[in-house]
Amino acid sequence: ALLQPQRPIRPLPDVLISQIAAGEVIERPASALRELLDNAIDAGARAITVRLEQGGMGYVQVEDDGCGIPAEELPLALLRHATSKIADLDELHHAAHLGFRGEALAAMAAVAEIEIISRRAGHDGARIQASAGQLGPVQPTAAQPGTRVTLRQLFFNLPARRKFLKSPQTEYAWCADVFKRAAIAHPHLALRLWHDGQLKLQFDRDPSPHGLDRLAAVLGESFSAHALPLTAQIGPLTVRGLVCKPTAARARADVQHIIVNNRWVRDRTVAHGVRAAYADVLHGALQPQYALLIDLPSELVDVNVHPAKSEVRFRDSSAVHQAVRHAVEKVLARAVGDLALLAPH
Ligand code: ADP
Ligand code: MG
Repeated sequence: ALLQPQRPIRPLPDVLISQIAAGEVIERPASALRELLDNAIDAGARAITVRLEQGGMGYVQVEDDGCGIPAEELPLALLRHATSKIADLDELHHAAHLGFRGEALAAMAAVAEIEIISRRAGHDGARIQASAGQLGPVQPTAAQPGTRVTLRQLFFNLPARRKFLKSPQTEYAWCADVFKRAAIAHPHLALRLWHDGQLKLQFDRDPSPHGLDRLAAVLGESFSAHALPLTAQIGPLTVRGLVCKPTAARARADVQHIIVNNRWVRDRTVAHGVRAAYADVLHGALQPQYALLIDLPSELVDVNVHPAKSEVRFRDSSAVHQAVRHAVEKVLARAVGDLALLAPH
């Protein structure tokens, strides 16, 4: 096809720039929920309540009991590239927070209606509202300590994007996945998920030091009944989790969760280490089912390689691969050994 005759180069209008940028951060209600949960967790929340309507297409609301936002900083929270989490390059490399790019709330403000109500302990509560990039004034309001962010009518000003959203049930399922991943990665948090006025999921704070009770609660009886608990310390690495008995492997990779330093991530090194451990006991194309929590000193892992932080880079990935493989092999061998003892000779 022939290209259009070239038009003069012009800078994009600011509104368009922020809408394009926003589209990279917020794709659907589940991505907004993920960002809001990250913010609540970064704020030191101990309890978080999520309320959704119509799979999040009506609204996504996240309420936390974290540190709150000072009233005078509310407009800044909605500004692009404004963050309280890092101040310089050095901090970027040691960022312990889940977010730090200062983009999420600005993105939401550009493509939806957003309301933030927040209160710092010892201060008065305040509220700000923004819609399609236009910020309203900060107003005083009564509030509990902590923050409540409500996102309504995602993509109301971008009909082409709104059309790409699926049914409320499908969008809800994605939101529920995001919620469960946060529940697995943060066992110390109390979490509730409401959908269309119904309490769908509720996890109390897991008091166990290993976090395995939370794993079992999130993954459900059908998984945990066939799973083996694992806790291992290998050099600087702690590997904990639940791995399925070889007999419980399935054709589909339904349950494969990898959490590194409290982040849910996709990681080939760990996934491959697990597969290698199952190599001798698993037949054909069957997939092991597992949830692994890996903790290691922050200087041994770079968490800033992926914009959405869903990938990490290990300083020594072969050491991680080996550690995971050994840890999983050991529990599998013990389980198979137990079976052999029970079997008639
Ligand atoms: P980032 O998380 O990358 O800093 P965001 O746009 O998600 O960027 O948030 C901007 C800022 O707003 C944060 O740096 C933080 O100071 C503040 N903030 C957002 N959500 C919360 C919350 N739930 N509790 C306390 N502060 C928050
Ligand atoms: Mg954030």
